Amino acid sequence: MFKKIFNNTLITVALVVVVLIALFLNVLNNTYTQRLADSLKEDVAFIEKGFEVEGLDYFNGLDSKERITLIDEDGSVLFDNRRDSESLENHSDREEIKEAIETGEGYSRRYSDSIGVVSIYYAKALENGDIIRVSLEADSITSLLVRMFSYLFWIAVIGLLVAMFLAQRAASKIVKPINELDVDKPITLPPYKELTPLVSKINEQNYTIEKQIDKLNKRKEELKNITANMNEGLLVINAKEKVLSANDAALKLFGVVANGRKESVYEFDHSRIFMEAIKKALKGEALSFEKSTNGRYLEYMLSPVKVDNVVQGATIVVMDITEKRQQEEMRREFSSNVSHELKTPLTSISGFAELLRNDLVAPKDVCEIGSNIYDEAQRLIVMIEDILKLSRLDDSRSVGEKEEIDLRQLSEKIIEQYKGQAKEQNISLSIKNTAKIKTIRQLINEIISNLVSNAIKYNKENGEVVISFLEDNKHVTIQVSDSGQGISFEDQKRIFERFYRADKAHSSEIPGTGLGLSIVKHAVNYLGGEISVTSELNKGSTFKVVLPKE
Ligand code: ADP
Repeated sequence: MFKKIFNNTLITVALVVVVLIALFLNVLNNTYTQRLADSLKEDVAFIEKGFEVEGLDYFNGLDSKERITLIDEDGSVLFDNRRDSESLENHSDREEIKEAIETGEGYSRRYSDSIGVVSIYYAKALENGDIIRVSLEADSITSLLVRMFSYLFWIAVIGLLVAMFLAQRAASKIVKPINELDVDKPITLPPYKELTPLVSKINEQNYTIEKQIDKLNKRKEELKNITANMNEGLLVINAKEKVLSANDAALKLFGVVANGRKESVYEFDHSRIFMEAIKKALKGEALSFEKSTNGRYLEYMLSPVKVDNVVQGATIVVMDITEKRQQEEMRREFSSNVSHELKTPLTSISGFAELLRNDLVAPKDVCEIGSNIYDEAQRLIVMIEDILKLSRLDDSRSVGEKEEIDLRQLSEKIIEQYKGQAKEQNISLSIKNTAKIKTIRQLINEIISNLVSNAIKYNKENGEVVISFLEDNKHVTIQVSDSGQGISFEDQKRIFERFYRADKAHSSEIPGTGLGLSIVKHAVNYLGGEISVTSELNKGSTFKVVLPKE
């Protein structure tokens, strides 16, 4: 734009200078010619006077730088101070002569055939019909113009330089406010009113762009929030295997620190199976696979991203399925344990029944066999009840609603149930303090019952069981202590496993399924609490359960 304004201004000014010089030269030429003509006229008047007085002799005595010619009314040259009049042709066809014959005087500027130069002529008709003509070579005007030309040239050069300077200034002045326009912000006042339509268009477009950027940012933020809250790792890669985006879960899953640059996807996982899967996905194949590393199971799902049927990249979703796999494993173990544990009493029952059926039991022993069958059946019932409790805990829908519970009252009721059993071994049962908690009755009941039952079962003659409560703003702590046989350090680590029973020798004497503490741990976890045990062999054990108050 600057160049255009500069060039146009310069061309205009240059043209004006040239035209002005041409006009000036023209005016100068005309004025000069006019002045010459006037001077010729004056000379003719003077010569006319001389001619009137002295006749033709006057001409012979004339010494003039002008050419003087006397012509009769037929056009024949009577006298010429530059040429021999005899040799000159008839002049009646000369413009100035014709005009002088017609109007009394005549001017002309033309090329002289007689003397071969451009001349200015003035002719005047005398009273006797002759015509006096005076002429001057126009070369003197031309030479004047040529002399002036060098001045004019320099004037033109200076004029052009000034024009350039002015054009430069004018262009800068015009362009400056346009350059200073901040098109990123709405323009309230355009520098030139001619720019108003352009400025309003820019404002309109700025507004549209701003809105679109806002929209895009919102979408980006939404997407970021969605992917940030995803448990699954999400990677988006381009066709060159560079990571375009990775959510927090992906960074955490692969232990990669985000540094903002486009990393190779293999910095996340460089295993062979992953590399091959990436290559396939970038060839347009959707696939999934599972992989285990360092005791973790990961499931990968890869899908190519296509635009116009051309693969532009791929998305990779990675899920940590370790827990799922562990649960499956536990379920498998549990089923085999259940079958095994159920089979033991059933085999006994079946054996005793067999003896009875074949009449192999002496009548005096029938009663004992019957009670054996009863005990084994009871064991089966208890075990099935415990298994049902565990499966109910697995299915969280069936555990019930939270309610405000007075733990002392609840414990008193539980003690009531175990009073008989405790009395058999002369075990004292007591409750210290009290506490209130908002929780699920069925679960808290299960927790305290199982702990109290174990504290009695694995106690000694004349032993004691103490249930105590402690509470602060946020938590309630339940402790069940006994003065029983205690649990070895090794067993402490395993007693919460399903079907695990410590000290097999004693366990065979004391009835149990090995599921009680599993149920307790499950229930405590379900309520968001923690369970721990401290114990010393032959001195006793303390089970401590910390639960959130709400
Ligand atoms: P169960 O009592 O039916 O055998 P539990 O899961 O309740 O099953 O207990 C697992 C094992 O932990 C028991 O077999 C026992 O060996 C040990 N145990 C639990 N509570 C106590 C306790 N208070 N004192 C000593 N040993 C205990």
